[in-house]
Amino acid sequence: MSHSTTTEAASSLLPTYARYPLTLVKGEGSWLWDDTGKRYLDFMSGIAVTNLGHVPRRIKEALVSQLDQLWHVSNLFHIPNQAEAAKLLTDNSCGDAVFFCNSGAEANEAAIKLARRYQQLIQNNGRYEIITFEQSFHGRTLATLTATGQAKVKEGFAPLPEGFKTIPLNDIQALKAAISVNTAAIMLEMVQAEGGIHPVDTDFIQQAAELCEKEGILLIVDEIQTGMGRTGKLFAYEHFGIEPDIFTLAKGLGSGFPVGAMVAKEKLREAFSAGSHGSTFGGTPIATAVVKATIETIVGEHLPNRAAEQGEYLKAQLREKLAGNDFVKEIRGIGLIVGIECAGPVGAILTEAQNEGLLVISAGPNVIRLLPNLLVAKEEIDEAVMILAKLIKAFS
Ligand SMILES: *Cc1c(COP(=O)(O)O)cnc(C)c1O
Repeated sequence: MSHSTTTEAASSLLPTYARYPLTLVKGEGSWLWDDTGKRYLDFMSGIAVTNLGHVPRRIKEALVSQLDQLWHVSNLFHIPNQAEAAKLLTDNSCGDAVFFCNSGAEANEAAIKLARRYQQLIQNNGRYEIITFEQSFHGRTLATLTATGQAKVKEGFAPLPEGFKTIPLNDIQALKAAISVNTAAIMLEMVQAEGGIHPVDTDFIQQAAELCEKEGILLIVDEIQTGMGRTGKLFAYEHFGIEPDIFTLAKGLGSGFPVGAMVAKEKLREAFSAGSHGSTFGGTPIATAVVKATIETIVGEHLPNRAAEQGEYLKAQLREKLAGNDFVKEIRGIGLIVGIECAGPVGAILTEAQNEGLLVISAGPNVIRLLPNLLVAKEEIDEAVMILAKLIKAFS
């Protein structure tokens, strides 16, 4: 079926997604085309996945050349692309050792496992609990949905794994009160993305990092949506003057090819040994060829700086064009992860934007989330802002 008229109730798919009546068939840079030939300006990037735009030439070349060479071998063998991709990650971050997997949830799952194993086998202290934060999002596996601070992702999935505690964000007293002899790690996003584009307070995260250091608690930063240049730094933790013990990546890591990674500091290296964790598809020659090309491009072309500049421009334009609008409560974000918090639900605006040829998503019911690719042009930002300003004005 080429058209989007097929409802999931009548299809062979489980109805896990509320899909828009749109079928996208081609992409290039910031643009997508549907099956009727209509063109869309893409300001969601597959939810922060296609950070280099659609079908980026250099990544495609790396992928095609690897496709001619070798697709898959087991992790029982050395995989040079994997080692090289890992070195690029550790050379450009505070981390020292990488585990590759296939998605964000798996990267967080690996982080939770590594944190527990470090405490239990290296520190010998029996600690297992992971403290996470309200409104966070960490994935859909049983452990990561338990870690997620949103009730809606947990409904109907009991019993949930033990050893997770969720507290309010930016509340250092709540964190102090939550820490116990069982606390293995705290886990958080530097900008809560699904939760509504809420950057963490600098004071809070710096105090939390100090507290972790003092108490022997590991700091896990979920960079799945914020990583790979999106916030104007390669990794968002760099904005806050802290260094996580573990951070996780997926989304933008493969420019659209599915891949995830967990990056850990040296002291955690020995907590995993041969056979303690693994993944059949983790870090295949193909996936890691793409990771290599993605990091080389982002770092080599200074794309975090570009994201910072374009993000400032985007926010400035939004503030100018939406000034004095009662429906707009706040425009916030870091780099190219930007939220427009509105006084009411934004669903109708998203649909209208699609009709006008602009793709944007929400982050919670009242926040319009903008995630253009890092190479987005000023003219494209102007066009998106013009459409949004027009729709928001009509709405308010
Ligand atoms: C998307 C996301 C995840 C989950 O990633 P999947 O690849 O869908 O498993 C986890 N954490 C954050 C912050 C995310 O944005």
